[in-house]
Amino acid sequence: MIVMKFGGTSLRNAERIKAVAGIIKSRLKQSPVVIVSAHHGVTEQLIAAARTPSPLHYARIRNLHRRITKELGLPLFVVEPLLKELEDFLETIRPDIHRSVTLKEMDEILSFGERFSCRVMAGYLNKINIPATSLDAYDIGMLTDSHFGNARPLPQSHKDITARLRPTIHSGRIPVVTGFIGKDREGNITTLGRNGSDYTATIIGAAVGASEIQLWSDVHGIMSADPRLVHNAKPVPAVSFNEAGELAYYSRRFHPSTLTPAIHKNIPVRILNTYEPTAPGTTISAARPKKTTVPDKAVKTIVYKKDLFLVTITSGRMLMQYGFLAKIFSVFAKYKIVIDMVATSEISVSCTTDRKDHIREALKEIARFAGVQLDEKKAVVCVIGENIKYLNGLSADIFMALKRAGVKIHMISYGATGINIAFLVDNRDVRKSVRSLHRLIY
Ligand code: ASP
Ligand code: MG
Repeated sequence: MIVMKFGGTSLRNAERIKAVAGIIKSRLKQSPVVIVSAHHGVTEQLIAAARTPSPLHYARIRNLHRRITKELGLPLFVVEPLLKELEDFLETIRPDIHRSVTLKEMDEILSFGERFSCRVMAGYLNKINIPATSLDAYDIGMLTDSHFGNARPLPQSHKDITARLRPTIHSGRIPVVTGFIGKDREGNITTLGRNGSDYTATIIGAAVGASEIQLWSDVHGIMSADPRLVHNAKPVPAVSFNEAGELAYYSRRFHPSTLTPAIHKNIPVRILNTYEPTAPGTTISAARPKKTTVPDKAVKTIVYKKDLFLVTITSGRMLMQYGFLAKIFSVFAKYKIVIDMVATSEISVSCTTDRKDHIREALKEIARFAGVQLDEKKAVVCVIGENIKYLNGLSADIFMALKRAGVKIHMISYGATGINIAFLVDNRDVRKSVRSLHRLIY
């Protein structure tokens, strides 16, 4: 059994939905369980519809679903009852200047996106004689806590999903399940957070003991570098769970919990492209690092993140003192500022964050007991690969290459696990840095 999850861009119109159906058809032997996101852009439209009283957004959502349904040659009743339900619901919660929608109401509204696309996908599969059943995730056991907007599945879900998917699977019908949504114990609809459909896929994959969890979208899997910066960047065939964990920080594409259920059950996750269904994509699995001395085998990818703040804190009193770092970090914690990279010396601490909110207030507070400096427009560039620890002299080569490219380095971090070497540069040096490192390694 495999899980196949299709993202919103892969379901953006009738033509792409037909392509997806073709991909499902080509893998029927592996007994797929299909998970779908909302059609591209629908989640955003639903957010807009919930926030503004204008009927325009609802009209757009209605037209899009009617158009897709018609173009697929499906009867309108596949979407009409849900459209009516959405329209009524929006009517009852109409926000105004005195009241904005609650997180709970928002989750109910957002759930419509996946509920629509799941019915459309199953409807189309049936139309082309692939027996399929559309299922709302909460009806097959996706039980979550009541953390609206960012709900977590409860442990009980695991058993329930296993049991409740079984009848559909045994009947030979393809289950087509809504990504992203669940219900809490009171029966309120919840969502797992933006991009949560991938997380649904791994939760369900773990519950049914899938041999593989496939995440289909319309881009290549993981690339050796950003193809917008490096024209000969190439797809990376395999990364480990640990490497993917490091990568997740640099890509907004992933819900942070996506890999957890797969890691638990040791199920490989594959990232695949609907435009190139036979390409191998990238497999994320528990593969063990193998000793190598070849850079292009050890380094998997070069990534970056721009627009970071660099905070430098200095204090003469730090010398031979304890508790100083604790004091600084308790201020960051108070303002909920997430710190990414840290470097310390006897009398100074440098750290980076991407959170603009409250940084100035936090620094004001720290300034009462230490010197502070804030620099903006910094970027972290990171070389990721579980085997880089075996490459003697890689850091020397990296810094030589950067020196030759004329890049100024502000901070360096080489983690204890030896998975990555990261350094901080100016935003404007990212292109140069990534290019020169890619040339060095590939
Ligand atoms: N439709 C939801 C979103 O756009 C969930 C997902 O696409 O994974 O965030
Ligand atoms: Mg989406």
